[in-house]
Amino acid sequence: MNSIEHWIAGSYVAARGRTAPVTNPATGKETGQVALAGVAEGNAAVAAAAAAFPGWRDTSIAKRTQVLFAFRELLNARKGELAAIITSEHGKVLDDALGEVSRGQEVVEFACGIAHLLKGGYTENASTKVDVHSIRQPVGPVAVISPFNFPAMVPMWFFPVAIAAGNTVVVKPSEKDPTALNWMAELWQEAGLPDGVFNVLHGDKVAVDVLLTHPDIKAVAFVGSTPIAKYVYETATAHGKRVQALGGAKNHMIVLPDADLDLAADAAVNAGFGSAGERCMAISALIAVGGIADALVAKISARATALRTGDGLRGCDMGPLVTAAARDRVTGYVDAGQAEGATLVVDGRTITPDAEGDGFFVGPTLFDNVGTEMSIYTDEIFGPVLSVLRVDSYDEALELINANPYGNGTAIFTNDGGAARRFENEVQVGMVGINVPVPVPMAYYSFGGWKNSLFGDTHAHGAEGVNFFTRGKVVTSRWLDPSHGGINLGFPQND
Ligand code: NAD
Repeated sequence: MNSIEHWIAGSYVAARGRTAPVTNPATGKETGQVALAGVAEGNAAVAAAAAAFPGWRDTSIAKRTQVLFAFRELLNARKGELAAIITSEHGKVLDDALGEVSRGQEVVEFACGIAHLLKGGYTENASTKVDVHSIRQPVGPVAVISPFNFPAMVPMWFFPVAIAAGNTVVVKPSEKDPTALNWMAELWQEAGLPDGVFNVLHGDKVAVDVLLTHPDIKAVAFVGSTPIAKYVYETATAHGKRVQALGGAKNHMIVLPDADLDLAADAAVNAGFGSAGERCMAISALIAVGGIADALVAKISARATALRTGDGLRGCDMGPLVTAAARDRVTGYVDAGQAEGATLVVDGRTITPDAEGDGFFVGPTLFDNVGTEMSIYTDEIFGPVLSVLRVDSYDEALELINANPYGNGTAIFTNDGGAARRFENEVQVGMVGINVPVPVPMAYYSFGGWKNSLFGDTHAHGAEGVNFFTRGKVVTSRWLDPSHGGINLGFPQND
């Protein structure tokens, strides 16, 4: 049994009070106990980050960049270890876990270019012998609070940029799969990051509340469900912090009548059932436009039933849900969908998983003829359940998406460039795919949704991430000749 401890100021710190079980979702077996911080441990993590800040802030960009490059090299060489940890606590299949690490690594690579990203502007002689330049400085100790579904990638959306920019960090991972962050903490130390720059605080609401209210934390980056994202945004901004809080999603994919239906069916299966649907960019609602629905549903059904569900270490296509409670929640929605009158085409409750023990499995599940009033449509299920809705026109499909309270990701499948261009312009969603079902932006663009999928106004990584973790300053300077112009109480006029 692993004892999963906090990482504060470069060392492990054992739990002082409460702990919670961590399980392998493929077997249902408990593998460890994770510390749940109290206020004292929360304060200690913030104190470590605050103590390390002045030194790290003043460390040259050249030196900071060297540490980033070293971290990138270590991560690249050893990412298989991290992927195995992710599979053992989250459940996603090993290939997918490796993909997650690679996408996080791209943000580390982006942050290696911080010297370029922090360059300011300079204006010579803005007024006579007056020069103006702009600089960006780190904000201070910052908090990153992350969800269970991407235990490595989501924290990596933030901390490489934050650290490269000169901030110090306290990360609060999900208590469901906490070990990935401890592994990365050790990697940072090996890469030469000074102790206290990167801290890991394990826990639940108690730990989160310390980070949201502590006066030494200057910025909070959060990713999780919408109700908690809203709470985090409201609480931390009320305590004077800048906040980006990314919330839940209900992502739609439109298939127009002219689309390649095999391509669309492959995409729907990948985006609906990858990582057992536990992705904030998963497609959970497919809108079939015109007369293609029967053919498309048949193609998706054939592909979904051919998927192998089981232990992520056995080369399966799809792994388990993260906990027994998550599994029961998903099967509850499947029961509700049937009761509400949707057509259950593929029933994931009945599969036999390729796994030992008592894992938390639900197979790919496909509903047709789903109505907008049904709970399988209105709620974020966060499981391998794909709902097909049938409409007559593009306009009806667009209206459905724009009426939805979430606005994280969406996709259109068509061969009509004009329709795709219209969609890109008209849809009220932050990330849009054209014949791409999961349009996650590259690290040098920014990731974020609209509406109830994001509270705050900056998105993660890319230029917006750099702005979030830095503050702008503009300096106006005049180096006078030895004789100065004397006192003048008037507001200066440019000449
Ligand atoms: P969650 O909201 O339950 O937990 C997220 C974090 O908040 C965890 O660290 C958790 O410990 C903490 N937390 C939980 N309850 C809290 C409370 N009452 N007060 C304070 N902190 C609390 O989310 P989850 O189940 O871990 O993750 C799944 C959710 O995250 C889904 O809704 C998914 O769409 C969303 N998500 C969104 C994005 C995005 O980019 N928008 C990315 C990944 C996941």
